[in-house]
Amino acid sequence: MKIAAASELFRKLPSVDEVMRGPAITALVASYGHAPVADATRAVVARLRQEITSGLLDENALQLALSGLVAAIENQLRHALSYSLRPVINATGVILHTNLGRAPLGDAVIEHIRETATSYSNLEFDLAAGERGKRDAHVERLFGKLLRGENTLTQGASPGAAELHLRGTAEAAVSTRADIKTIVVNNNAAAVLLALNSLAEGGEVIVSRGELVEIGGSFRIPDVMTKSGAILREVGTTNRTRTTDYESAITERTRLLLRVHRSNFEITGFTEQASTAELVALARKRGIPLMEDLGSGALFDLRSVGISGEAGVLDSLRCGVDIVTYSGDKLLGGPQAGLISGSAELISRMRSNSLFRALRVDKLIYAALEATLLAYVRLDHDAIPTLRMMRLTKDEIGRRAEALAAQIATAKFRVEIIDGESILGGGAAPSSSLPTRLLALSCARFSADELSHRLRASDPPIIARTEEGRVLLDLRTVFPEQDAALVAALAGIVP
Ligand SMILES: *Cc1c(COP(=O)(O)O)cnc(C)c1O
Repeated sequence: MKIAAASELFRKLPSVDEVMRGPAITALVASYGHAPVADATRAVVARLRQEITSGLLDENALQLALSGLVAAIENQLRHALSYSLRPVINATGVILHTNLGRAPLGDAVIEHIRETATSYSNLEFDLAAGERGKRDAHVERLFGKLLRGENTLTQGASPGAAELHLRGTAEAAVSTRADIKTIVVNNNAAAVLLALNSLAEGGEVIVSRGELVEIGGSFRIPDVMTKSGAILREVGTTNRTRTTDYESAITERTRLLLRVHRSNFEITGFTEQASTAELVALARKRGIPLMEDLGSGALFDLRSVGISGEAGVLDSLRCGVDIVTYSGDKLLGGPQAGLISGSAELISRMRSNSLFRALRVDKLIYAALEATLLAYVRLDHDAIPTLRMMRLTKDEIGRRAEALAAQIATAKFRVEIIDGESILGGGAAPSSSLPTRLLALSCARFSADELSHRLRASDPPIIARTEEGRVLLDLRTVFPEQDAALVAALAGIVP
């Protein structure tokens, strides 16, 4: 092999102008336009120059690259003109995966978004009165049924309705307060910011030291508190905070007692936490509101999917908590949103805050939220994909895994089906998991890391867990209609 100096190789590299004048480029320019083709050419030539500089190309390799120049430019163009945000197959078994877009939306939700977004709508128009209306009216009606126990539409619902019991029925009507209202903002971080600013700006908010959480992506209670203009008053210790700690910290400057859900960690061992009922009693006695940042607020009874010890939105409200904040795209299974439910008087103070206007959501979110809430009201839990995934039994998942294993197991792969755990995710119930069956793959040619890298590079990308030298696929979070794509990808990644 002839060793050429880099400068000699650079001379063989055509300029962008030369490439653009070439006959083979004409067809690309005709279909993509001059500017995008010129950009792509510039990128490809720059890449070759870089490869020469770093000594990656010898003369033969450069010749080869130049003979495939037009194809490389076309590839570059396709890449530049395709979406960056793409669907992926979530085979991790983490149902509300924060990095993978949290809750996927169901067909009815998408249809409601489509029909309202592609047309004009009555977003802020009262059709009966023929005058300006409020955008929250569209979801307030449904929150009323779910949170104030006005749900009269619960009978004759879809099969399986009995299992996932909504607590917003007659039982709740007796015990929840009738004045519960809800407003919607962009996400739960915004909900907490708006609530703190509206209720406690310039005053103090008492929080347990065991609840000063950081949620992924830099949501930290002390920082949000500072931004809201409220002053954090920490009480207790990391592991133990008693009701008396809150009580002795109350002064004339206290505006709010705040409880924060420990969404992503647990404290075990020598621990103590004031019960919600005790805090409600203290708040009543001292005339100070109690707010609970639930993060993942469920509108169904988590015990019906085998998870106990987690308070839902209704549990907290019924217990007497004045304000509850929760995310639309965690356990609720809807679009990204921050929901604030609670006493009508406190909610109206938030509504009249100018921050509310800055944090409000658009018609797409209202449409998605309305469709999600309607599914809850109708007890049509199968319409909410994340609820469907939570309710899959280990046996159902195991049967699908066996069917897939039969198609995957070839000379290339060793496939086993093993017991495992799916995770709720999304900062919900950090220690709770659902029993599942996993496909455990290994292959002689590649390590587990190399396999999972190749799975991520397939189209659509497949995201899996690796453990002890194996790739683990949990079908709980894979839509059944994606099974075929999964098999095809696996067939393609090992040559
Ligand atoms: C997730 C979570 C948040 C942030 O909610 P986003 O919807 O992601 O903004 C805040 N507080 C708690 C307790 C959470 O779990």
